[in-house]
Amino acid sequence: MARPMTMTEKIIAAHAGRADVRPGENVWVNVDILLTHDVCGPGTIGIFHEQFGRDAKVWDRERVVIIPDHYIFTAEEKCHRNIQILRDFVREQGIRYYYDPDFIKNEPGMPSPYKDPTKTSYKGVCHKALPEEGHVRPGEILLGTDSHTCTAGAFGQIATGVGNTDAAFVLGTGKTWLKVPPTMKFTFHGEIPPYLTAKDLILAVIGDISVSGATYKAMYFTGEGIRSLTLEDRMTLTNMAIEAGGKSGICDVDEKTEAYVRARSNRPDWTVYTDDPGAEYCYEAEFDLGTLEPLVAKPHSPDNRDTAYNCRDVKLDRAYVGSCTGGKITDMIFVAAVLQGKQVKIPTFVVPGSTEVHADMLRLNVRGEPKANGEKSIYDILVDAGCQIGASSCAACLGGPKDTFGRLNEPVNCISTTNRNFPGRMGHKDAGVYLASPLTVAASALTGYITDPREFVSEPIATGSAGTV
Ligand code: SF4
Repeated sequence: MARPMTMTEKIIAAHAGRADVRPGENVWVNVDILLTHDVCGPGTIGIFHEQFGRDAKVWDRERVVIIPDHYIFTAEEKCHRNIQILRDFVREQGIRYYYDPDFIKNEPGMPSPYKDPTKTSYKGVCHKALPEEGHVRPGEILLGTDSHTCTAGAFGQIATGVGNTDAAFVLGTGKTWLKVPPTMKFTFHGEIPPYLTAKDLILAVIGDISVSGATYKAMYFTGEGIRSLTLEDRMTLTNMAIEAGGKSGICDVDEKTEAYVRARSNRPDWTVYTDDPGAEYCYEAEFDLGTLEPLVAKPHSPDNRDTAYNCRDVKLDRAYVGSCTGGKITDMIFVAAVLQGKQVKIPTFVVPGSTEVHADMLRLNVRGEPKANGEKSIYDILVDAGCQIGASSCAACLGGPKDTFGRLNEPVNCISTTNRNFPGRMGHKDAGVYLASPLTVAASALTGYITDPREFVSEPIATGSAGTV
């Protein structure tokens, strides 16, 4: 009888042409998609040319996806040069899926951002744009030159970050040498309450196991608590698997996943895998969503967990909403629902995770449905509350050049929906970054202190059709 396997093991076995693989084995696998962006793309391209030859061709021009997103809105010329390297490579190779920041014209100075988010080839943050543009499917292996590539595991696939050298090898061969990770199973019981989001769940996990607790493990998130999350909120969970050292994060595929992928994917031939009864886990933990509290990760580590309530005396200078973790349209709805009809007390910077999110902020009302004539959009509500809204990109999530929107150029305290709070991550090395859910960030923006969102949220927040297909 076949050995029971986890879905991670089954996906690896299928891509290695094997009936069975075991944790710790090294196997060659075929890669479905390789992602790169403006920071690591140029280095990867350089190694590819060096190792495979100046005239070499990528293994499959339809499976290489290039999404510039990191250093876009800056006057820094080196950043614009990186974009040009990507453009030249895309032209040379005939790569089909490239999302150009068409407003960067090779002119000195800060580029004028897109005027209409629906009328640009630019997409914004790669991990948000990948599923939107149909490059994420259950049962596949997606590699990317970015540590948060694990985000796509929310769709029931193996997605993980690789370095430029490994990525260059994939560019040339379509293969990689992969060690099968053992799986850690995290089961969430109960329905998500109105005052929690997936950010609280993942901060609870990382707080328990530490930033190295899942090193080279697959983190499997399951249970009715996960099923009760929107697909976007599941992306927040898998996005932060790397903050525990995880090789990947993965969720079960359900009707929400299938509907989204059917509507977006450019390939119909994907496979849904499930964990076999009796599959082996190297670690198991269970959480009750009914007793979990809104959490923050204090400076300077994602595992420095505390409750928002315990941190109520922490005075803040700034709030930040954005990134692949907390810049999705449902995150924007959570923030708008808390801020509606109120005024922020501290500078609050909002960066849509993608141009689609930006367009949806203009198109949808606070319940996530198309707004009626005269009704306020999510965007209107945030502007009315005093937020500053930037163009979609990674922006201050990783600091970036000094002129980056929302960057912490001073040693201030910031509460943020992002995923990392190491010293200097958002700019100044002495700034203190508190990671929190969009609800906690919004509640804190209203008071100027870290604030438990239960002070403002008691009813479920509807997100309607936002982020569903
Ligand atoms: S938004 Fe932040 S975490 Fe996400 S890809 Fe960009 S820099 Fe990395």
